[in-house]
Amino acid sequence: MRSPLAAETAPPAPAPAARRRARFAIAPARHAFRRRFFPDASAPEWSDWRWQTRNRIRTLAELERVFQLSDDERAAVMRRTSGLPVGITPYYASLMGREDPAEPLRRTHIPVGAELVTLPGEDDDPLGEEPDMVAPGLVHRYPDRVLFLVTNFCATYCRYCMRSRLVGSKGEHTFSVAQWEAALGYIEAHAEVRDVLISGGDPLTIADDKLDWLLGRLRRIGHVELIRIGTKVPLALPMRVTPALARVLGRHRPWLSLHATHPDELTPEATLALDRLADAGIPLGGQTVLLKGVNDDLAVMRALMHGLIKRRVRPYYLFQCDPIRGSGHFRTPVTTGLELIEGLRGHTSGYAVPHFALDAPGGGGKVALVPDAIVGREGEDLVVRNFAGALYRYPDPGGMLGAGKARR
Ligand code: SF4
Repeated sequence: MRSPLAAETAPPAPAPAARRRARFAIAPARHAFRRRFFPDASAPEWSDWRWQTRNRIRTLAELERVFQLSDDERAAVMRRTSGLPVGITPYYASLMGREDPAEPLRRTHIPVGAELVTLPGEDDDPLGEEPDMVAPGLVHRYPDRVLFLVTNFCATYCRYCMRSRLVGSKGEHTFSVAQWEAALGYIEAHAEVRDVLISGGDPLTIADDKLDWLLGRLRRIGHVELIRIGTKVPLALPMRVTPALARVLGRHRPWLSLHATHPDELTPEATLALDRLADAGIPLGGQTVLLKGVNDDLAVMRALMHGLIKRRVRPYYLFQCDPIRGSGHFRTPVTTGLELIEGLRGHTSGYAVPHFALDAPGGGGKVALVPDAIVGREGEDLVVRNFAGALYRYPDPGGMLGAGKARR
């Protein structure tokens, strides 16, 4: 098997007909944005994911060329000297409000002063991943699952990232092959590992041939039954989902967890990317972080969940925002998430209702949070509340569930 280093050479150029088929459609709003802010970029360049990553908006001057920054945003960008960098693909920037600092997608990617404030309970590694790291980039916490961090590079940097201690830091690069090999060796030696979640950083920013090598290597480990990839690429850099990438993924059949934040991300370009993945036979699940002022509204959340379902992405998790350092302005009370789930459950298709969960700080793992449907007990009956708030008695002879529960 070729090593990924040997695979650095560019693949042969596609034949003209294949190149035409691979061309990525650009929505009219994106054409207008390109002409205004990137007039030197041709349409094929705009549709090239490597051009998009090379031309990410990263500095104050680049931000000011596109956005009318508030004083708070400008000061925050200037005061930032370390930690999570700024990085926004031109495509993703075109989805954001240029004049309104409160526009949801803009809030998730342009720093504000509150990001520089550490509140009690916040930490650089709130999930306590470092103590469970058994090899560089490999976290083994749950008995049969590992988290394999394969890169620290992302198309865009989300200000609430739970791995902001790691992503985009120390220069942007994929982890070394020696690190991958150490992690793969550990997985091979641990027959109890049946599920590998590949994350980072964003694994879909890795070149096709390297990804092909990595997935193939994992697929040949007999006890690895499930490979999952966590990514935001189909929404932040949809042109990365080329027919060639879809073929690589189709060959190795991983599941894909899509990090979706807001319905404004569900553009025609993102739809095409998700279609290519679904058509390649990749099971798609959605993961959303609950963020104050971004998606903590029932109409917004419902639109996002419905939009995902329409694109063959099954909403899977709604996460309470982790207490990462400087995340206070993003975090909602836990009740907000429960109310959103109550507002969805029973009011829309069950497939469109994600699990609400938080990651217990200090390495406690995921804890599912459910609205309380059990009201109490009356004799042999369990009293439950349905989605509309009405009470019902369910015959449950001999049961104890709900006994002694104060009825509210
Ligand atoms: S795409 Fe994921 S890993 Fe990258 S910055 Fe956003 S949340 Fe973090």
